Amino acid sequence: MSAPRGRKAVFLDRDGVLNAAVVRGGKPYPPSNLDEVRILPGVEEACRRLRRAGWLLVVVTNQPDVARGLARREAVEAINRHLVQRLGLDDVRTCYHDDADGCGCRKPAPGLLLEAARDHGIDLAASWMVGDRWRDVEAGRRAGCRTAFVDSGYDERRPETPDLVVHSLAEAASGILEEPLMKATDLKVKVFADGADKAGMLEMYADPLVKGFTTNPTLMRKAGISDYRGFAREILACIPDRPISFEVFSDDLPEMKRQAMEIRSWGPNVFVKIPVTNTRGESTAGLVGELARAGVQLNVTAVFTLEQVRAVSEALGNHVASNISVFAGRIADSGRDPLPIMAEAVRIMSAHPRQELIWASPRELLNVVQADQVGCHIITATNDIIRKLPLLGKDLAEYSLDTVRMFRKDAVSAGYTL
Ligand SMILES: [Mg+2]
Ligand SMILES: [Zn+2]
Repeated sequence: MSAPRGRKAVFLDRDGVLNAAVVRGGKPYPPSNLDEVRILPGVEEACRRLRRAGWLLVVVTNQPDVARGLARREAVEAINRHLVQRLGLDDVRTCYHDDADGCGCRKPAPGLLLEAARDHGIDLAASWMVGDRWRDVEAGRRAGCRTAFVDSGYDERRPETPDLVVHSLAEAASGILEEPLMKATDLKVKVFADGADKAGMLEMYADPLVKGFTTNPTLMRKAGISDYRGFAREILACIPDRPISFEVFSDDLPEMKRQAMEIRSWGPNVFVKIPVTNTRGESTAGLVGELARAGVQLNVTAVFTLEQVRAVSEALGNHVASNISVFAGRIADSGRDPLPIMAEAVRIMSAHPRQELIWASPRELLNVVQADQVGCHIITATNDIIRKLPLLGKDLAEYSLDTVRMFRKDAVSAGYTL
């Protein structure tokens, strides 16, 4: 299970990012009092957009003029308060030292960011630093954040390798907000292929991202399979080393048990899929417990409620590797948000480390990312969703261009004229 992740923040330099810097001799200086403060164009809207998307906004600012005797601390604080109020900032951290003080907070030292991260529970690796000078970018880099450099063309040393070079906070915010949540190779959730046609299953078996397989009688019927045992044997001969679920189909508990014992004998990588109830709504929890104690790897399926998760999890215990398949997609189809339900299911099952939660019936690729984010162990998806995995992290401008080209190509191929 993935550990709960911290909050994500955008660390903001103050002068030259939020408010205009006073530029003298090609170098930026802070405004000396509140009357001189001018918030830069697009900054209010950028802060609003970032806040709405869940980013904490934390200002980290060097104000060495205080140590140099050129500014009063009260004047700096008045400007900070004004910005907090106008922009809805979550926190401001200020270093009042100069180089000679050798403090750990004057950027490029990362102290201000590290302290704020500790106080707010911020995940630095998921966070950004935006600044207009090399010291800002370097502090962000040392703190383990990604960095955006607001290039204002000052006549001074430039930062090395910021992740993003922009000309305003507005532009930085767009870059941050459009950043993909993750790439396929970053996923912790295991992707299983849900299907029952042999060619499709073998195509997925060739993909190292696919860590296992699930089948069900509905899919098998759709694939035109009439001989259940024959089909299973054929598939297991080709896929001997990744978990595969095959489902019992009896409605009668003793017969379910007999089928389960036969199915488990087909191979060490076989998981026996048992629905959470029979068609009369009678719980299978007793049978599930009995099979788990007998060492049968199980995948308890058609689970929709947390009450069912609790009962099944309890019945499975920690005897053997097992799965609980919660139908997140069908839950979403009923107008309910599956995310908090899945997160709670993960929590319930964490008492039994050999149990893994399956996000079943996903509707779109984004569900893979969501399953990953709530710490779900497995997501079982149809091949059409799995084929889209390489799209994770695709550049949107490039994707837009691909889409325009597709429209054009199809219109030309169709020979349309107007
Ligand atoms: Mg600055
Ligand atoms: Zn300092």
